Amino acid sequence: MKYQPVIGLEVHVQLLTNTKIFCGCSTKFGAEPNSQTCPVCLGLPGALPVLNKKVVEFAIKAGLSTNCSITPRSIFARKNYFYPDLPKGYQISQFEDPICQWGWLDIKVEGQELKRIGITRIHMEEDAGKLVHGDSEMNDGSGVDLNRACTPLLEVVSEPDLRTSDEAVIYLKQLHQIVTWLGICDGNMEEGSFRCDANVSVMPVGSDKLGTRAEIKNVNSFKFVKQAIEYEIQRQIELIEDGGTVVQETRLFDPNSGKTRSMRSKEEAHDYRYFPDPDLVPLVISDEWIERTRQELPELPEQRQQRFMAELGLPLYDAEVLTASRALADYFEAGVAAHDNAKAVANWVMGEITRALNDSGAAIEICPVSPTQLGGLLKLIDSGTISGKIAKTVFDEMWKSGKAAHIIVEEQGLVQVSDSSAIESIIDGIMAANTGQVEEYRGGKEKVFGFFVGQVMKVSKGKANPSVVNELLLNKLKG
Ligand code: ADP
Ligand code: MG
Ligand code: ZN
Repeated sequence: MKYQPVIGLEVHVQLLTNTKIFCGCSTKFGAEPNSQTCPVCLGLPGALPVLNKKVVEFAIKAGLSTNCSITPRSIFARKNYFYPDLPKGYQISQFEDPICQWGWLDIKVEGQELKRIGITRIHMEEDAGKLVHGDSEMNDGSGVDLNRACTPLLEVVSEPDLRTSDEAVIYLKQLHQIVTWLGICDGNMEEGSFRCDANVSVMPVGSDKLGTRAEIKNVNSFKFVKQAIEYEIQRQIELIEDGGTVVQETRLFDPNSGKTRSMRSKEEAHDYRYFPDPDLVPLVISDEWIERTRQELPELPEQRQQRFMAELGLPLYDAEVLTASRALADYFEAGVAAHDNAKAVANWVMGEITRALNDSGAAIEICPVSPTQLGGLLKLIDSGTISGKIAKTVFDEMWKSGKAAHIIVEEQGLVQVSDSSAIESIIDGIMAANTGQVEEYRGGKEKVFGFFVGQVMKVSKGKANPSVVNELLLNKLKG
Protein backbone atom coordinates (compact mmCIF):
# COMPACT_ATOMS: atom_id res chain seq x y z
CA MET A 1 0.00 0.00 0.00
CA LYS A 2 1.14 3.56 -0.68
CA TYR A 3 0.85 6.23 1.95
CA GLN A 4 0.17 9.94 1.80
CA PRO A 5 1.85 11.95 4.57
CA VAL A 6 -0.08 14.91 6.03
CA ILE A 7 1.58 17.68 8.01
CA GLY A 8 0.27 20.69 9.95
CA LEU A 9 2.55 23.13 11.78
CA GLU A 10 2.06 25.14 14.94
CA VAL A 11 4.65 27.92 15.16
CA HIS A 12 5.48 30.03 18.19
CA VAL A 13 6.73 33.48 17.33
CA GLN A 14 8.28 35.51 20.15
CA LEU A 15 7.44 39.17 19.67
CA LEU A 16 10.00 41.96 19.74
CA THR A 17 8.22 44.27 22.15
CA ASN A 18 10.18 46.15 24.81
CA THR A 19 7.78 45.13 27.55
CA LYS A 20 5.77 42.04 28.39
CA ILE A 21 2.27 41.27 27.18
CA PHE A 22 0.37 41.96 30.42
CA CYS A 23 2.76 44.12 32.47
CA GLY A 24 5.44 46.77 31.99
CA CYS A 25 8.45 44.55 32.77
CA SER A 26 11.31 44.48 30.31
CA THR A 27 11.65 41.55 27.89
CA LYS A 28 15.40 42.01 27.50
CA PHE A 29 17.23 38.69 27.23
CA GLY A 30 19.99 37.61 29.59
CA ALA A 31 19.25 39.68 32.70
CA GLU A 32 19.84 38.48 36.26
CA PRO A 33 17.19 35.83 37.06
CA ASN A 34 13.91 37.30 38.33
CA SER A 35 15.18 40.87 37.99
CA GLN A 36 12.52 41.63 35.36
CA THR A 37 9.42 40.69 37.26
CA CYS A 38 6.49 42.32 39.02
CA PRO A 39 3.36 41.10 40.84
CA VAL A 40 1.61 40.45 37.50
CA CYS A 41 4.24 38.21 35.90
CA LEU A 42 5.07 36.61 39.24
CA GLY A 43 1.42 35.61 39.39
CA LEU A 44 0.80 37.13 42.80
CA PRO A 45 -2.83 36.97 43.94
CA GLY A 46 -4.84 40.04 43.10
CA ALA A 47 -2.46 41.40 40.48
CA LEU A 48 -4.30 42.32 37.29
CA PRO A 49 -3.04 41.96 33.72
CA VAL A 50 -3.16 44.94 31.34
CA LEU A 51 -2.84 44.18 27.64
CA ASN A 52 0.16 45.63 25.79
CA LYS A 53 -1.16 47.50 22.75
CA LYS A 54 2.01 46.84 20.76
CA VAL A 55 1.34 43.09 20.94
CA VAL A 56 -2.06 43.61 19.34
CA GLU A 57 -0.53 45.79 16.64
CA PHE A 58 2.09 43.12 15.89
CA ALA A 59 -0.58 40.43 15.77
CA ILE A 60 -2.64 42.48 13.32
CA LYS A 61 0.46 42.98 11.17
CA ALA A 62 1.17 39.25 11.15
CA GLY A 63 -2.45 38.52 10.30
CA LEU A 64 -2.68 41.02 7.46
CA SER A 65 0.61 39.74 6.01
CA THR A 66 -0.69 36.16 5.97
CA ASN A 67 -4.09 36.97 4.43
CA CYS A 68 -6.01 36.43 7.68
CA SER A 69 -9.24 38.07 8.74
CA ILE A 70 -8.84 40.16 11.87
CA THR A 71 -11.45 39.22 14.47
CA PRO A 72 -13.32 42.39 15.51
CA ARG A 73 -13.95 41.10 19.02
CA SER A 74 -11.49 38.53 20.29
CA ILE A 75 -11.25 36.89 23.70
CA PHE A 76 -8.44 35.94 26.07
CA ALA A 77 -8.76 32.55 27.74
CA ARG A 78 -7.10 30.77 30.60
CA LYS A 79 -5.30 27.56 29.70
CA ASN A 80 -4.99 25.71 32.98
CA TYR A 81 -2.13 23.41 33.88
CA PHE A 82 0.37 23.00 36.67
CA TYR A 83 4.08 23.47 36.21
CA PRO A 84 6.63 25.15 38.49
CA ASP A 85 7.50 27.76 35.84
CA LEU A 86 3.86 28.89 35.71
CA PRO A 87 3.06 30.49 39.06
CA LYS A 88 -0.53 31.44 38.20
CA GLY A 89 -1.42 27.84 37.40
CA TYR A 90 -2.70 28.97 34.02
CA GLN A 91 -1.38 30.58 30.88
CA ILE A 92 -3.29 33.46 29.33
CA SER A 93 -3.91 32.55 25.72
CA GLN A 94 -6.73 32.69 23.19
CA PHE A 95 -8.99 29.77 22.42
CA GLU A 96 -12.32 30.66 20.88
CA ASP A 97 -12.21 33.84 18.79
CA PRO A 98 -8.44 34.27 18.31
CA ILE A 99 -7.29 37.61 16.88
CA CYS A 100 -6.57 36.29 13.35
CA GLN A 101 -8.30 33.52 11.38
CA TRP A 102 -8.71 31.97 7.93
CA GLY A 103 -5.45 33.09 6.35
CA TRP A 104 -3.06 31.46 3.93
CA LEU A 105 0.43 31.51 2.48
CA ASP A 106 1.20 30.58 -1.12
CA ILE A 107 4.36 28.53 -0.97
CA LYS A 108 6.86 28.19 -3.76
CA VAL A 109 8.09 24.67 -4.21
CA GLU A 110 10.83 24.61 -6.82
CA GLY A 111 9.61 23.56 -10.23
CA GLN A 112 5.95 23.55 -9.17
CA GLU A 113 3.03 25.92 -9.23
CA LEU A 114 2.29 27.98 -6.15
CA LYS A 115 0.59 25.91 -3.48
CA ARG A 116 -1.81 27.50 -1.01
CA ILE A 117 -1.38 26.50 2.63
CA GLY A 118 -4.23 27.49 4.92
CA ILE A 119 -3.58 29.27 8.20
CA THR A 120 -6.28 28.27 10.63
CA ARG A 121 -5.56 30.89 13.24
CA ILE A 122 -3.03 33.17 14.86
CA HIS A 123 -3.48 33.86 18.53
CA MET A 124 -1.69 35.86 21.21
CA GLU A 125 -0.43 34.32 24.43
CA GLU A 126 2.11 34.72 27.20
CA ASP A 127 5.22 32.57 27.57
CA ALA A 128 6.00 30.69 30.80
CA GLY A 129 9.10 31.12 32.98
CA LYS A 130 12.12 28.88 32.88
CA LEU A 131 13.54 26.29 35.25
CA VAL A 132 17.26 26.58 35.90
CA HIS A 133 18.92 23.37 37.04
CA GLY A 134 22.25 22.90 38.77
CA ASP A 135 23.13 26.56 39.14
CA SER A 136 26.30 26.68 41.24
CA GLU A 137 25.09 29.47 43.49
CA MET A 138 22.10 27.33 44.31
CA ASN A 139 24.23 24.33 45.28
CA ASP A 140 23.04 22.23 42.41
CA GLY A 141 19.41 22.77 43.28
CA SER A 142 16.78 23.89 40.81
CA GLY A 143 15.43 27.40 40.54
CA VAL A 144 12.75 29.24 38.66
CA ASP A 145 13.57 32.28 36.54
CA LEU A 146 10.43 34.25 35.77
CA ASN A 147 12.03 36.86 33.52
CA ARG A 148 10.54 35.10 30.52
CA ALA A 149 7.12 34.70 32.13
CA CYS A 150 4.59 36.89 30.33
CA THR A 151 6.78 37.42 27.25
CA PRO A 152 4.46 37.92 24.27
CA LEU A 153 4.06 35.12 21.72
CA LEU A 154 2.00 34.58 18.63
CA GLU A 155 1.01 31.04 17.79
CA VAL A 156 0.45 30.47 14.09
CA VAL A 157 -1.50 27.27 13.35
CA SER A 158 -1.59 25.89 9.82
CA GLU A 159 -4.22 23.69 8.23
CA PRO A 160 -3.10 20.09 7.57
CA ASP A 161 -2.31 21.12 3.99
CA LEU A 162 1.36 20.21 3.80
CA ARG A 163 2.29 16.93 2.16
CA THR A 164 6.09 16.64 2.29
CA SER A 165 8.91 17.65 4.61
CA ASP A 166 10.14 20.00 1.88
CA GLU A 167 6.78 21.78 1.72
CA ALA A 168 6.81 22.09 5.49
CA VAL A 169 10.27 23.67 5.50
CA ILE A 170 9.37 26.06 2.67
CA TYR A 171 6.21 27.14 4.49
CA LEU A 172 8.20 27.63 7.68
CA LYS A 173 10.89 29.64 5.90
CA GLN A 174 8.31 31.90 4.26
CA LEU A 175 6.61 32.50 7.59
CA HIS A 176 9.99 33.18 9.19
CA GLN A 177 10.82 35.63 6.43
CA ILE A 178 7.53 37.50 6.94
CA VAL A 179 7.76 37.91 10.73
CA THR A 180 11.40 39.02 10.60
CA TRP A 181 10.63 41.32 7.65
CA LEU A 182 7.81 42.92 9.63
CA GLY A 183 10.28 43.45 12.47
CA ILE A 184 7.97 41.76 14.96
CA CYS A 185 10.33 38.82 15.73
CA ASP A 186 14.11 38.45 15.67
CA GLY A 187 13.68 34.99 14.12
CA ASN A 188 16.46 33.45 16.21
CA MET A 189 15.57 29.75 16.19
CA GLU A 190 18.44 28.62 18.41
CA GLU A 191 17.27 30.93 21.17
CA GLY A 192 13.71 29.77 20.63
CA SER A 193 12.31 33.05 19.29
CA PHE A 194 10.78 31.09 16.41
CA ARG A 195 9.95 27.46 17.19
CA CYS A 196 7.78 24.86 15.63
CA ASP A 197 5.59 21.90 16.62
CA ALA A 198 5.12 19.54 13.68
CA ASN A 199 1.95 17.41 13.46
CA VAL A 200 2.43 14.39 11.24
CA SER A 201 0.13 11.61 10.07
CA VAL A 202 -0.11 9.23 7.14
CA MET A 203 -3.14 7.85 5.29
CA PRO A 204 -3.56 5.51 2.34
CA VAL A 205 -3.15 7.32 -0.98
CA GLY A 206 -6.56 8.33 -2.27
CA SER A 207 -8.16 8.33 1.19
CA ASP A 208 -10.02 11.43 2.33
CA LYS A 209 -9.88 10.52 5.99
CA LEU A 210 -6.81 11.87 7.78
CA GLY A 211 -4.75 9.42 9.81
CA THR A 212 -4.01 9.78 13.51
CA ARG A 213 -1.36 12.43 14.10
CA ALA A 214 1.67 12.57 16.32
CA GLU A 215 2.85 16.00 17.41
CA ILE A 216 6.60 16.62 17.55
CA LYS A 217 7.30 19.41 20.03
CA ASN A 218 9.61 22.41 19.79
CA VAL A 219 11.82 21.65 16.85
CA ASN A 220 14.28 24.52 16.62
CA SER A 221 15.94 24.51 13.21
CA PHE A 222 14.80 24.10 9.61
CA LYS A 223 17.08 21.11 9.22
CA PHE A 224 15.65 19.37 12.29
CA VAL A 225 12.08 20.03 11.13
CA LYS A 226 12.86 18.21 7.90
CA GLN A 227 14.60 15.34 9.67
CA ALA A 228 11.93 14.98 12.33
CA ILE A 229 9.09 14.89 9.79
CA GLU A 230 10.84 12.39 7.55
CA TYR A 231 11.68 10.10 10.45
CA GLU A 232 8.13 10.32 11.75
CA ILE A 233 6.54 9.53 8.36
CA GLN A 234 8.75 6.46 8.01
CA ARG A 235 8.06 5.35 11.57
CA GLN A 236 4.30 5.55 11.10
CA ILE A 237 4.36 3.72 7.76
CA GLU A 238 6.46 0.90 9.19
CA LEU A 239 4.21 0.70 12.23
CA ILE A 240 1.09 0.36 10.07
CA GLU A 241 2.76 -2.12 7.71
CA ASP A 242 3.63 -4.23 10.75
CA GLY A 243 -0.04 -4.34 11.66
CA GLY A 244 0.18 -1.69 14.38
CA THR A 245 -1.74 1.56 14.76
CA VAL A 246 -0.46 5.09 15.24
CA VAL A 247 -1.55 6.57 18.56
CA GLN A 248 -2.15 10.24 19.10
CA GLU A 249 0.72 11.47 21.22
CA THR A 250 3.32 14.13 21.78
CA ARG A 251 6.84 13.20 20.71
CA LEU A 252 10.28 14.74 21.03
CA PHE A 253 12.92 14.91 18.32
CA ASP A 254 16.47 14.02 19.30
CA PRO A 255 18.91 15.75 16.91
CA ASN A 256 21.71 13.36 17.90
CA SER A 257 19.92 10.19 16.84
CA GLY A 258 17.68 11.82 14.22
CA LYS A 259 14.73 9.99 15.82
CA THR A 260 11.54 10.99 17.59
CA ARG A 261 10.45 9.36 20.83
CA SER A 262 7.25 9.42 22.81
CA MET A 263 6.88 12.12 25.45
CA ARG A 264 3.28 11.64 26.49
CA SER A 265 0.28 9.86 25.08
CA LYS A 266 -3.19 11.29 24.58
CA GLU A 267 -4.36 9.62 27.78
CA GLU A 268 -1.78 11.61 29.69
CA ALA A 269 -2.55 14.77 27.73
CA HIS A 270 -3.66 17.81 29.64
CA ASP A 271 -7.24 18.84 29.86
CA TYR A 272 -6.65 22.56 29.83
CA ARG A 273 -10.17 23.53 30.92
CA TYR A 274 -10.11 26.70 28.82
CA PHE A 275 -12.43 29.48 29.88
CA PRO A 276 -12.56 33.23 29.16
CA ASP A 277 -10.20 35.16 31.43
CA PRO A 278 -12.43 37.29 33.69
CA ASP A 279 -9.54 39.70 34.30
CA LEU A 280 -9.37 40.82 30.69
CA VAL A 281 -12.13 42.50 28.74
CA PRO A 282 -12.84 41.31 25.19
CA LEU A 283 -10.44 42.91 22.74
CA VAL A 284 -12.36 45.08 20.29
CA ILE A 285 -10.45 46.12 17.18
CA SER A 286 -11.97 48.83 15.03
CA ASP A 287 -11.87 48.77 11.23
CA GLU A 288 -10.07 52.05 11.43
CA TRP A 289 -7.25 50.51 13.50
CA ILE A 290 -6.95 47.63 11.06
CA GLU A 291 -6.77 50.02 8.11
CA ARG A 292 -4.21 52.23 9.81
CA THR A 293 -2.05 49.17 10.49
CA ARG A 294 -2.46 48.01 6.90
CA GLN A 295 -1.15 51.40 5.73
CA GLU A 296 1.87 51.01 7.98
CA LEU A 297 2.85 47.60 6.60
CA PRO A 298 6.15 47.59 4.74
CA GLU A 299 6.30 46.32 1.19
CA LEU A 300 6.41 42.56 1.75
CA PRO A 301 9.03 40.22 0.28
CA GLU A 302 6.75 38.91 -2.44
CA GLN A 303 5.71 42.39 -3.59
CA ARG A 304 9.27 43.58 -3.50
CA GLN A 305 10.42 40.66 -5.66
CA GLN A 306 7.76 41.55 -8.21
CA ARG A 307 8.90 45.16 -8.25
CA PHE A 308 12.57 44.24 -8.60
CA MET A 309 11.62 42.24 -11.67
CA ALA A 310 9.18 44.72 -13.20
CA GLU A 311 10.95 48.01 -12.43
CA LEU A 312 14.58 47.02 -12.31
CA GLY A 313 14.49 44.18 -14.82
CA LEU A 314 16.04 41.60 -12.50
CA PRO A 315 15.61 37.88 -13.19
CA LEU A 316 13.45 35.93 -10.71
CA TYR A 317 16.48 34.25 -9.16
CA ASP A 318 18.15 37.57 -8.32
CA ALA A 319 14.88 39.03 -7.01
CA GLU A 320 14.45 36.07 -4.68
CA VAL A 321 18.01 36.12 -3.37
CA LEU A 322 17.96 39.87 -2.80
CA THR A 323 14.73 39.75 -0.82
CA ALA A 324 15.98 37.04 1.54
CA SER A 325 15.86 39.72 4.21
CA ARG A 326 14.59 43.26 4.34
CA ALA A 327 18.06 44.55 5.24
CA LEU A 328 19.56 42.89 2.15
CA ALA A 329 16.82 44.28 -0.09
CA ASP A 330 17.37 47.75 1.43
CA TYR A 331 21.10 47.49 0.86
CA PHE A 332 20.57 46.51 -2.75
CA GLU A 333 18.15 49.36 -3.41
CA ALA A 334 20.46 51.90 -1.81
CA GLY A 335 23.19 50.56 -4.11
CA VAL A 336 20.99 51.08 -7.14
CA ALA A 337 20.23 54.61 -5.94
CA ALA A 338 23.98 55.26 -5.89
CA HIS A 339 24.68 53.64 -9.25
CA ASP A 340 21.96 53.21 -11.81
CA ASN A 341 22.83 49.71 -13.05
CA ALA A 342 20.60 47.29 -11.17
CA LYS A 343 22.03 44.12 -12.66
CA ALA A 344 25.61 45.13 -11.84
CA VAL A 345 24.64 46.03 -8.26
CA ALA A 346 22.72 42.75 -7.96
CA ASN A 347 25.72 40.74 -9.17
CA TRP A 348 28.02 42.39 -6.69
CA VAL A 349 25.64 42.07 -3.74
CA MET A 350 25.01 38.40 -4.50
CA GLY A 351 28.69 37.80 -5.29
CA GLU A 352 31.49 39.71 -3.58
CA ILE A 353 29.43 41.28 -0.80
CA THR A 354 27.81 38.00 0.21
CA ARG A 355 31.12 36.15 0.01
CA ALA A 356 32.89 38.77 2.15
CA LEU A 357 30.05 38.79 4.69
CA ASN A 358 30.18 35.00 4.94
CA ASP A 359 33.96 35.00 5.33
CA SER A 360 33.87 37.57 8.10
CA GLY A 361 30.68 36.30 9.72
CA ALA A 362 29.21 39.82 9.58
CA ALA A 363 25.60 40.70 8.83
CA ILE A 364 24.51 42.96 5.98
CA GLU A 365 23.30 45.51 8.56
CA ILE A 366 26.91 46.22 9.51
CA CYS A 367 28.52 45.73 6.11
CA PRO A 368 31.84 47.66 6.12
CA VAL A 369 31.32 48.71 2.49
CA SER A 370 28.27 50.96 2.32
CA PRO A 371 25.85 50.77 -0.63
CA THR A 372 27.04 54.24 -1.70
CA GLN A 373 30.65 53.06 -1.66
CA LEU A 374 29.71 50.00 -3.68
CA GLY A 375 27.98 52.30 -6.16
CA GLY A 376 31.20 54.35 -6.36
CA LEU A 377 33.19 51.22 -7.21
CA LEU A 378 30.74 50.12 -9.89
CA LYS A 379 30.88 53.57 -11.48
CA LEU A 380 34.62 53.12 -11.95
CA ILE A 381 34.06 49.77 -13.65
CA ASP A 382 31.24 50.93 -15.89
CA SER A 383 33.19 54.00 -16.98
CA GLY A 384 36.17 51.81 -17.91
CA THR A 385 38.43 53.44 -15.32
CA ILE A 386 39.27 50.08 -13.77
CA SER A 387 38.84 46.52 -14.98
CA GLY A 388 36.47 44.05 -13.35
CA LYS A 389 39.48 42.12 -12.11
CA ILE A 390 41.15 45.10 -10.48
CA ALA A 391 37.76 45.99 -9.00
CA LYS A 392 37.93 42.86 -6.84
CA THR A 393 41.28 43.97 -5.44
CA VAL A 394 39.90 47.46 -4.83
CA PHE A 395 36.86 45.94 -3.15
CA ASP A 396 39.01 43.91 -0.73
CA GLU A 397 40.90 47.08 0.15
CA MET A 398 37.63 49.00 0.65
CA TRP A 399 36.44 46.22 2.97
CA LYS A 400 39.61 46.46 5.07
CA SER A 401 40.19 50.21 5.09
CA GLY A 402 36.72 51.68 4.66
CA LYS A 403 38.13 54.00 2.00
CA ALA A 404 36.22 55.03 -1.11
CA ALA A 405 37.03 53.18 -4.33
CA HIS A 406 38.34 56.19 -6.26
CA ILE A 407 40.76 57.03 -3.44
CA ILE A 408 42.21 53.52 -3.44
CA VAL A 409 42.50 53.52 -7.22
CA GLU A 410 44.31 56.85 -7.09
CA GLU A 411 46.63 55.91 -4.21
CA GLN A 412 47.64 52.62 -5.74
CA GLY A 413 47.70 53.75 -9.36
CA LEU A 414 45.20 51.14 -10.49
CA VAL A 415 43.63 53.05 -13.35
CA GLN A 416 43.03 50.76 -16.30
CA VAL A 417 45.35 51.22 -19.27
CA SER A 418 43.35 51.47 -22.50
CA ASP A 419 45.95 53.46 -24.40
CA SER A 420 46.85 51.20 -27.34
CA SER A 421 50.42 52.39 -27.81
CA ALA A 422 51.28 51.51 -24.21
CA ILE A 423 49.70 48.07 -24.55
CA GLU A 424 51.28 47.55 -27.95
CA SER A 425 54.76 48.08 -26.58
CA ILE A 426 54.08 45.51 -23.83
CA ILE A 427 52.90 43.03 -26.46
CA ASP A 428 55.94 43.64 -28.62
CA GLY A 429 58.23 42.92 -25.69
CA ILE A 430 56.42 39.69 -24.85
CA MET A 431 56.39 38.45 -28.43
CA ALA A 432 60.12 39.13 -28.77
CA ALA A 433 60.82 37.15 -25.61
CA ASN A 434 58.61 34.21 -26.61
CA THR A 435 59.28 33.57 -30.27
CA GLY A 436 58.64 29.84 -29.82
CA GLN A 437 55.06 30.43 -28.72
CA VAL A 438 54.55 32.94 -31.54
CA GLU A 439 55.57 30.21 -34.01
CA GLU A 440 53.22 27.74 -32.38
CA TYR A 441 50.31 30.16 -32.65
CA ARG A 442 51.04 30.91 -36.25
CA GLY A 443 51.34 27.18 -36.89
CA GLY A 444 47.68 26.85 -35.88
CA LYS A 445 47.89 26.19 -32.13
CA GLU A 446 45.36 28.81 -31.12
CA LYS A 447 45.35 27.78 -27.48
CA VAL A 448 48.61 29.70 -27.00
CA PHE A 449 46.55 32.87 -27.25
CA GLY A 450 45.60 32.57 -23.60
CA PHE A 451 49.27 32.43 -22.66
CA PHE A 452 49.86 35.81 -24.29
CA VAL A 453 46.85 37.39 -22.62
CA GLY A 454 48.13 36.12 -19.29
CA GLN A 455 51.58 37.58 -19.95
CA VAL A 456 50.22 41.01 -20.86
CA MET A 457 48.10 41.06 -17.73
CA LYS A 458 51.06 40.04 -15.65
CA VAL A 459 53.36 42.72 -17.04
CA SER A 460 50.64 45.39 -16.77
CA LYS A 461 49.82 44.22 -13.23
CA GLY A 462 46.27 43.51 -14.32
CA LYS A 463 45.70 47.07 -15.45
CA ALA A 464 45.55 46.55 -19.21
CA ASN A 465 42.06 46.84 -20.64
CA PRO A 466 41.20 43.24 -21.60
CA SER A 467 39.23 44.05 -24.72
CA VAL A 468 42.01 46.30 -26.06
CA VAL A 469 44.54 43.56 -25.23
CA ASN A 470 42.54 40.96 -27.13
CA GLU A 471 42.14 43.09 -30.19
CA LEU A 472 45.79 44.15 -30.40
CA LEU A 473 47.10 40.66 -29.67
CA LEU A 474 45.01 39.14 -32.44
CA ASN A 475 46.33 41.63 -34.95
CA LYS A 476 49.95 41.30 -33.92
CA LEU A 477 50.01 37.52 -33.63
CA LYS A 478 48.49 37.12 -37.06
CA GLY A 479 51.51 39.12 -38.18
P1 ADP B 1 -3.54 20.98 19.50
O1 ADP B 1 -3.43 22.17 20.37
O2 ADP B 1 -4.30 19.84 20.05
O3 ADP B 1 -2.22 20.55 18.96
P2 ADP B 1 -4.30 22.62 17.30
O4 ADP B 1 -5.64 22.72 16.65
O5 ADP B 1 -3.73 23.79 17.97
O6 ADP B 1 -4.43 21.39 18.27
O7 ADP B 1 -3.26 22.18 16.21
C1 ADP B 1 -3.43 21.06 15.49
C2 ADP B 1 -2.41 21.06 14.37
O8 ADP B 1 -2.36 19.74 13.85
C3 ADP B 1 -2.77 21.95 13.20
O9 ADP B 1 -1.62 22.52 12.64
C4 ADP B 1 -3.42 20.97 12.21
O10 ADP B 1 -3.25 21.37 10.87
C5 ADP B 1 -2.64 19.73 12.45
N1 ADP B 1 -3.41 18.50 12.21
C6 ADP B 1 -4.65 18.22 12.58
N2 ADP B 1 -4.99 16.98 12.20
C7 ADP B 1 -3.92 16.45 11.57
C8 ADP B 1 -3.62 15.19 10.95
N3 ADP B 1 -4.51 14.21 10.93
N4 ADP B 1 -2.40 15.04 10.42
C9 ADP B 1 -1.48 16.00 10.47
N5 ADP B 1 -1.70 17.20 11.02
C10 ADP B 1 -2.89 17.43 11.57
MG1 MG C 1 -0.54 21.34 19.27
ZN1 ZN D 1 5.90 41.97 35.15
